[in-house]
Amino acid sequence: MISLGIEGTAHTLGIAIVEKINEKCKILSNESRMYKPAKGGIHPREAANHHAMHLPSLLHESIKKAGVEIKEIDLIGFSIGPGLGPCLRTVATAARTIAIKYKKPIMGVNHCIAHLEIGKALTGSHDPVLLYASGGNTQVISLLEKKYRIFGETLDIGIGNCLDKFGRAIGIPFPAGPHIEKLARKGRKYIPLPYSVKGMDVSFSGILTAALSLIKNESIEDMAYSLQETCFSMLAEVTERAMAHLEKEEVLLGGGVASNMRLQEIMKKMAMERGAKFFVPSRQYLVDNGAMIAWTAILMHEAGYRMSLGDTKVRQNFRTDEVEVKWS
Ligand code: AMP
Ligand code: MG
Repeated sequence: MISLGIEGTAHTLGIAIVEKINEKCKILSNESRMYKPAKGGIHPREAANHHAMHLPSLLHESIKKAGVEIKEIDLIGFSIGPGLGPCLRTVATAARTIAIKYKKPIMGVNHCIAHLEIGKALTGSHDPVLLYASGGNTQVISLLEKKYRIFGETLDIGIGNCLDKFGRAIGIPFPAGPHIEKLARKGRKYIPLPYSVKGMDVSFSGILTAALSLIKNESIEDMAYSLQETCFSMLAEVTERAMAHLEKEEVLLGGGVASNMRLQEIMKKMAMERGAKFFVPSRQYLVDNGAMIAWTAILMHEAGYRMSLGDTKVRQNFRTDEVEVKWS
């Protein structure tokens, strides 16, 4: 089965063609374009305009690169939520248009579940606890009784959002995470910051406020280092607690922040010390991408899910645990 997947929940428009062949995920193309605001944070309508503008050319690029014809595509997948309303609606409109014009079935995919499924497919992880650490989302997710349940999550902003806001305050453009990672490597002194773990949940906005209040007096490198060490230790703690609670022996990373080598190192060490396995896909499948949508659409379709056009209304607050996981 060949699927076309369109991702567009926030800043990134991704279009991919994926084939399921011999039970394996074969990615034929995975193209993307990222909206980067000239200043400030993501403006939802501008991001949606970016997606609308780039959609036709990216679609052609992706199909051309995959070397398939549109008639060979069996299914149209798109990110139905959670995400920014204008971005979701733009992508849903495109997916509906393609589905109607070429008479293909359509499948709205939960974005967070898609991160997990592409990670599993590409790394060989079977039953992981996923740390999904991205711009807008930070969740610890795992399968329990046919649902991907959230065992821990941020109570306020996502980890990536925390890094991006800190970066903006010190003049680093969006996305600031990779720059902060470089700065942090040069940090030498740990500056104490609030450590905010509440049961299985985390919170970043207080840490951000504290870090911003200290930037005048401390070196930027030490601040970047301290911010990363504090936030990443919190993420390792709640992920480990979920693993212990669920007695699961695999940890998988997803989301753009997971491309941070220091976060990977901390999580890998935690896994090793527990005798657990550590999995992380390559960067292009950590950040938002079309392949994860195309692949999850195939899993859903093969498990018997069907959507009429009326079912494709976007779901800004779509929760990970609302979907019955019939395919796992
Ligand atoms: P996503 O929302 O999953 O596409 O990921 C985007 C987020 O990941 C943004 O907040 C980026 O700042 C962040 N990010 C990307 N690369 C890194 C990195 N190397 N270290 C930390 N954060 C990163
Ligand atoms: Mg994401």
